[in-house]
Amino acid sequence: MRTLLLPLWLAGAAAAQPPVYWLLWFDTEDYIEPSSDDAALRLAEGLRERGVRATFKIVGEKARAWVQRGRTDVLRALAAHDIGYHTEFHSIHPAPAEYLAGMGLLDGAAEFTRRERGGFLLLEKLFGLPPSCYGQPGNSWAPQTNLALRAWGVKVYMDDAGQVGFDEQPFWYGGLLYIFNLGRHTVRADLNDPGRLAEAKRRFDEAVESARRLGGGVIQSYYHPTEWVTTEFWDGVNFSHGANPERSEWKRPRLRTPESREQAYRIFFEWVDHARRTPGLRIVTAREAPALFEPRDAAPPEGLARRLAASLDAHEGFSAADLLLSLLGLEPQHVDGPLRRSATTWSRPEIPRPAFERARRDAADFIRAHGRLPDEVWLGSERLSLEDFAATLAGDEGGAAVPLRRGRADFERRIGRDAARLYNWVIHPKGFAPESLLEMARLQAWTLKPARLRR
Ligand SMILES: [Zn+2]
Repeated sequence: MRTLLLPLWLAGAAAAQPPVYWLLWFDTEDYIEPSSDDAALRLAEGLRERGVRATFKIVGEKARAWVQRGRTDVLRALAAHDIGYHTEFHSIHPAPAEYLAGMGLLDGAAEFTRRERGGFLLLEKLFGLPPSCYGQPGNSWAPQTNLALRAWGVKVYMDDAGQVGFDEQPFWYGGLLYIFNLGRHTVRADLNDPGRLAEAKRRFDEAVESARRLGGGVIQSYYHPTEWVTTEFWDGVNFSHGANPERSEWKRPRLRTPESREQAYRIFFEWVDHARRTPGLRIVTAREAPALFEPRDAAPPEGLARRLAASLDAHEGFSAADLLLSLLGLEPQHVDGPLRRSATTWSRPEIPRPAFERARRDAADFIRAHGRLPDEVWLGSERLSLEDFAATLAGDEGGAAVPLRRGRADFERRIGRDAARLYNWVIHPKGFAPESLLEMARLQAWTLKPARLRR
């Protein structure tokens, strides 16, 4: 934990203000250009000298390259910071969204573990503790990763893409704390133009102010160490649009001139110094992030769950799944969303009480047994979609027959539409548009809710 040493009157003023937290993270991934190792070293040391702890999300193959190149100096310098994970190979095909697009939630989670677990364990071995967070390469995001990461003990998903979001602040999704899609609260300084540094500082201040106006919040900035030494991305020159050359054919990216490199460091550290001097701003790592927020699982206040009758959505900080669990008398806990979308076949306007009570007990039992919401709830040979079951249960007033209500999955509006745009990354094959992943994301949005800062 770092705080700035401020004059007492300033520290007092800062304490009275809503808290604003800054996460600075680096996707440390370029295993092709060796001078990017020096960049990681210099950034890690320069930040440590300033008392700033960042989060370095490291690719497994990058860590193997350090071991092979004997870069214990890099490993030692990074150990002063927080370590996250950024896949096994990043851009070698298939990228995560490529291999997960055709898979379901459960088999996809197992496949993600099969492919990606090795690099995670290597980082754990090298740094002495498991990585604190994960983030996908490019925008190669997929909902199955949530289950795998939870099983690995990861609590934080930290990245920036558009598939899911919640009002440009951190949120809970799939049981993980997501620092993701922060919109105007994601800020960067242009490393190439000293003339734009003043503007970058102003945009940083605006993001802080915006978070403060929310009553406290989170801002984030991200870079890649390789940006300080190259003028083009290591993976773009090799793996664009599905290309997958053999290792012997890999090309090295073009390098910055020494002058341009030094200028990039000067711009960056001056910008970081500006952030350090921002009153009331706390610089935190992904590992520290969960403790800043109220716990994920809590019992909703009496009566709140009845709001599901009108709208299946997060209400007052509780997810639709949390509220459904409370209606079913289950303990507050994370459960995943359903595997697939179902449709109601029950055609009468009411359900007899005994049949509905059996359905309700069966739904609760399913959730206890599987740790996820059922796709549908059975009434003999007929069924209710999960949405209609939840709305009907929330609207149940205890009469001899239960009026059937249609559920409206309003939480789905927070999942991005248009897979072609959301997965448009230079590494993905041209035309890659995995709508299946967005559909799965909508089903898992039962679990979506804002993360609330502790007061
Ligand atoms: Zn990356």
